[in-house]
Amino acid sequence: MGTYEEKSRKIASERAKELKSRIKDYLDASKDIETGEKLEDQYLDNKKRILDYLNGTEEDWKNWRWQMDNRFEDSKTLSNVIELSEKEMNEIDEVSENFRWAVVPYYASLMDPKDPNCPIRKQSIPSAMELKDPMEVDDDPMAEEFTSPAPCITRRYPDRLIINVTNQCAMYCRHCQRRRNIGGVDKPRPREELEEAIKYIRENPEIRDVLITGGDAFMLEDETIEWILGLLDEIEHVEIKRFGTRTLVTMPQRITDNLCSILKRHGPVYVNTQFNHPKEVSREAVEAAKKLTYAGVPLGNQSVLLNTINNDPHIIKKLNHELLKACIKPYYLFQAKTVTGTSHLIAGIEEGIEIVEHLRGYTSGLAIPEYIVNAPGGYGKTPLHPQYIVSAGKDYITIRTWEGRIIKYDNKVYNK
Ligand code: SF4
Repeated sequence: MGTYEEKSRKIASERAKELKSRIKDYLDASKDIETGEKLEDQYLDNKKRILDYLNGTEEDWKNWRWQMDNRFEDSKTLSNVIELSEKEMNEIDEVSENFRWAVVPYYASLMDPKDPNCPIRKQSIPSAMELKDPMEVDDDPMAEEFTSPAPCITRRYPDRLIINVTNQCAMYCRHCQRRRNIGGVDKPRPREELEEAIKYIRENPEIRDVLITGGDAFMLEDETIEWILGLLDEIEHVEIKRFGTRTLVTMPQRITDNLCSILKRHGPVYVNTQFNHPKEVSREAVEAAKKLTYAGVPLGNQSVLLNTINNDPHIIKKLNHELLKACIKPYYLFQAKTVTGTSHLIAGIEEGIEIVEHLRGYTSGLAIPEYIVNAPGGYGKTPLHPQYIVSAGKDYITIRTWEGRIIKYDNKVYNK
């Protein structure tokens, strides 16, 4: 028989056993998932090899301008630091004629030098698939050209907008949705255009949230960033500023003490970045994230769901756990849009929904990003979820829990 306490403990132990069984597949899979933390030694070897080849020093490595000046932009140079077959080299050269590419030494140090299927290589090194796009594509799937009421501005929502400040990035991602802006040369937007953008914000008092992005907003010089933030601070109705940057992932050296103090001076400032694979969460990236956090800058991550790179529930879960350890909140998981040359990297929407299904309940709510499809025509972000409502009536709704239990939920008392 036993006491009430003993009976309760027995029920709780059985439930704990059941919960343990729910996480077993992830724990088994997670042993084989590569992360920045696990690969630290490999990264240090790669870094040494790259520094030797470029004749650089530790101090050079920490300097983002040195990183930018030493970007790999042709197959021959890259082949000195990672193994590339003749076929891969030819592909890189052929694709380069159509689509720009560049990789800073830091991001190259995250690559597996021997494995062409490395998720870091797939995000950064051109593939022949880019020239064999079978899909009917739209180079401006978010209709940014038709949602720009003033220079540099994209406006798709009632109370917030984007200022596009440059087309430059530390690395040109193979899945980039803004390829049409990247072009062949780096073009920071001229100050006169930025001033017109700020004037538009000043004249529209409903704008309370301004996202500064590109390209990559942190490609701007510190002085320009401070100048923009200063002008926005003078506009009373602008409550928050946000930056869109991938430098935390691709070139964490850009997160300097000076940049952090500028952001701190002009808060509240938020930074959103784009880690797509746990291999990217390296020691250097984590240190950069912590610097921003200590400067009072909240960090969010906007992953892109990418075929053969992260379209796996265990990889996304591991990524999100690694991000939370670095104080970065997984914010969005984006369905990639169809842009010329990127179809081979687009995963199915059903895969995205399955990933969310594998997260909800199985891990902390903090580790669950919102899965988003950008509606064609510039009509904005649309969240997609697995279905948890089985049926809804006046007095009851029937719900499906994260474990698949179907439960009738009494709604009478609330249903006035
Ligand atoms: S950092 Fe962003 S804008 Fe730049 S290439 Fe990558 S995805 Fe495109």
